[in-house]
Amino acid sequence: MNPTAAKPTAATRLRLRITAAAESIVRAGHPWLFADSIHELNRAGQTGELAVIYDRKDKFLAVGLFDPDSPIRVRILHAGKPQTLDAAWWQARLEQALARRRELFDEHTTGYRLIHGESDGWPGLVLDRYDTTLVLKIYTAAWLPRLEEILSLLKEKIPCERIILRLSRNIRSLAERRAPARQDGAILFSHDAGTVPGAPIVFLENGIRFEADVLRGQKTGFFLDQRENRAEVEMLSRGKKVLNAFSFSGGFSVYAARGGAKSVTDLDISAHALASAKRNFALNENFPAVAACRHETIQADAFLWLERAPVKFKFDLIVLDPPSLAKRESERAAAIRAYEKLNSSGIARLERGGILVAGSCSAHVSAAEFFDAVRRAAQKSSRKFTELKTAQHPPDHPAAFKEAEYLKVIYLKFMT
Ligand code: SAH
Repeated sequence: MNPTAAKPTAATRLRLRITAAAESIVRAGHPWLFADSIHELNRAGQTGELAVIYDRKDKFLAVGLFDPDSPIRVRILHAGKPQTLDAAWWQARLEQALARRRELFDEHTTGYRLIHGESDGWPGLVLDRYDTTLVLKIYTAAWLPRLEEILSLLKEKIPCERIILRLSRNIRSLAERRAPARQDGAILFSHDAGTVPGAPIVFLENGIRFEADVLRGQKTGFFLDQRENRAEVEMLSRGKKVLNAFSFSGGFSVYAARGGAKSVTDLDISAHALASAKRNFALNENFPAVAACRHETIQADAFLWLERAPVKFKFDLIVLDPPSLAKRESERAAAIRAYEKLNSSGIARLERGGILVAGSCSAHVSAAEFFDAVRRAAQKSSRKFTELKTAQHPPDHPAAFKEAEYLKVIYLKFMT
């Protein structure tokens, strides 16, 4: 960056030029522009200001949010014809995301994603609804200076009682320095004058009541992305002995119980997650099948437990949905090996006729790589198996470009 660049003023718009390769990537609709593909900048950019990208012929190419602290230096908001991003534009962009979900859920589901980042045209921003609470999670500091604007837009367009702010881990310390009132877990708006919701928020998913720790929980408090797979597990669980490894708050487990599972065992390393799973079972005792299901919890490292627990621990259905095993590209090969090993140990604990539901949320491991790793584990077990199905993103978590495709699940049934 040129240290003698002019000081930013309202009048000098941040303009940049990029490499030919980046130009075609942006033209093709990719939402990320990395720092190393920028070769000309008219001045130093500020966090969250709009950067306008021009092509080699000096024509408008795209406009995006500038973030000097991230390797993803610009997150594209609009590419194509020149466009002014005024209030009406932002409003239309929000309405698009809301319209996309309008017919997806009825009153039995009050927890789902309203805005899914880049794939909804809101790069680095997520908005989840939990009943009357909205949770806004941001993954780039570029949104911090724009929070007021977004907040009034959300309040105007989405009926809600409170809006909570969550920050991704990597921007928490930066936010502390620059926006002390905008901390992780801050209440941005509340109908009842800023009172902190003391207990977790309770919402509905296909009629099941779940709690979400919206102030401190992982993601925004719940793994909303697995809703469809949970419903599938409900259908597969009648009369079964179910193991939910990496159970978190027992999402898959309550569904299995409602589907008539004989017993459900939640296995997680976190006591906090298992305590939440117990509360989620208690919240659904109104369903006779949930009340009748034996629920157990095991606090352990699931990788080790699956390998080492006594052989008597066998199950008819096992859900294996670990946290991301590849946080960066360099960890991809090791993650694929780890998936194969983990699923091998899971398969070894399946009874005859047992079903494996194997999930991955590693964006750096492709669906094909993951599915093949699980199939290899199945083949190496020398058991006869059939593939029931594979699944990827639910419609409230769209994936519009390759790096956004993180979620994949494969279902295998072992005949012998
Ligand atoms: N399947 C869950 C989400 C899983 S999130 C759902 O649908 O809600 C990943 C979970 O794995 C977290 O609860 C975390 O506490 C747990 N976890 C992380 N490492 C673990 C380990 N080594 N052994 C067991 N659980 C682990």
